[in-house]
Amino acid sequence: MAKLCQTEDLTDIQQEILSTVRQFVNSKIIPVAQELEHSDTYPQEIIDGLKELGVFGLTIPEEFGGLGESILTYALVVEEIARGWMSVSGVINTHFIVAYLLMQHGTEEQKAKYLPRMATGEVRGAFSMSEPGLGSDVSAIATKGTKLDDGSYSITGQKMWLTNGASSTLVALLTKTDEGADSVYKNMTTFLVEKEAGFGETAQGVTVPGKIDKMGYKGVETTELILEDHKIAADQILGGTPGKGFFQMMDGVEVGRVNVAARACGLAWRGFELGVAYAQQRKTFGKAIAEHQAILFRLAEMATKVEVSHSMMVRAARLKDTGKRMDVEAGMAKMVAAEYANEVVEDSFRIHGGYGYSKEYEIERLMREVKFMLIGEGTSDIQKMIIGRQLLKEYAL
Ligand SMILES: Cc1cc2nc3c(=O)[nH]c(=O)nc-3n(C[C@H](O)[C@H](O)[C@H](O)COP(=O)(O)OP(=O)(O)OC[C@H]3O[C@@H](n4cnc5c(N)ncnc54)[C@H](O)[C@@H]3O)c2cc1C
Repeated sequence: MAKLCQTEDLTDIQQEILSTVRQFVNSKIIPVAQELEHSDTYPQEIIDGLKELGVFGLTIPEEFGGLGESILTYALVVEEIARGWMSVSGVINTHFIVAYLLMQHGTEEQKAKYLPRMATGEVRGAFSMSEPGLGSDVSAIATKGTKLDDGSYSITGQKMWLTNGASSTLVALLTKTDEGADSVYKNMTTFLVEKEAGFGETAQGVTVPGKIDKMGYKGVETTELILEDHKIAADQILGGTPGKGFFQMMDGVEVGRVNVAARACGLAWRGFELGVAYAQQRKTFGKAIAEHQAILFRLAEMATKVEVSHSMMVRAARLKDTGKRMDVEAGMAKMVAAEYANEVVEDSFRIHGGYGYSKEYEIERLMREVKFMLIGEGTSDIQKMIIGRQLLKEYAL
């Protein structure tokens, strides 16, 4: 049998990219991940290395200085990186989503202004929908963009949970605006907010207060963002027309869901690798624990879950590459990969016995990181809601 997480029908270029990234992960990420994660240190050298490899511009078209690769390539790269350290995949994820939003929905001026500098990693993206009072329920957004007499806007409100909130310099930010539409979803607008990297007042009326202290997903910062009468020109509206923000962001979230599925696959893959290695080294009752059938069966179930997740993630990425809406497929892939990753990592933890509880072992970190897969880009409950509603449409009597 082949090893896990193999993908059929990749081009030579895709295989070359994945092999380069895998070498980078094995030599530059895995050896330092434990130490950087435990000390909550930003992985600057790793990020510089990824910039050199061109990863920040992976999906950006060649005319804008990127590699012009597909969402599938991006998802497989994310899987490889998350296998090394999930936090690093978080550094690039919101960047990818913002680049995707610009490519799909930006005006020609916006593409020309940002994409070349995003391809090099000079401009770094963050994606902001959540607020202190909402995550799943985007319709409840309270941050408001008010149109001023001169045609520009003033934004006031509080945003929550911005991955890369401090290191980013361009935030795709969803607000309410008054378009006079009959639906709350048509009264939302995405603004492209420019700011400096760092904490404190990073642009006029834009403050990044500090890092949120998290149980895992360390190294990469997650922040709040406070906007107080932030003045912004109308040409910073994504696509130039207000009222389209919700639909643009949902398109971006589909890419985000493929991304979280890929991250979960990477975590599960690593969890399996650690478990299968430990099970052959540790002896109890005169033999390696892998020879006890309970452990062997556990390994078999873990590997099967890794393969199921990988296949569904690859299918979702390929579908997104066709340009079709695929909220059900993205939701299914995200839900299955997240739930299975949680189970696989826990099984690996159990295989490690007491040592799994020691901070010296990688599985301890994975146990904390994998919990985020159950929440990011929509909880499993929300995925079920999306899948279920669509099923009732497809199978309506
Ligand atoms: C580390 C981290 C990084 C993040 N990064 C970002 C980011 O970069 N940008 C961003 O915009 N957001 C980000 N988020 C926010 C994330 O997307 C939300 O936390 C997530 O969508 C869940 O929203 P919530 O926390 O408000 O939970 P809630 O929406 O309050 O949900 C609470 C519980 O209720 C359940 N629930 C809610 N509604 C329903 C329903 N209709 N039916 C059944 N169950 C329901 C949920 O499943 C959950 O179990 C991040 C979050 C974390 C923890």
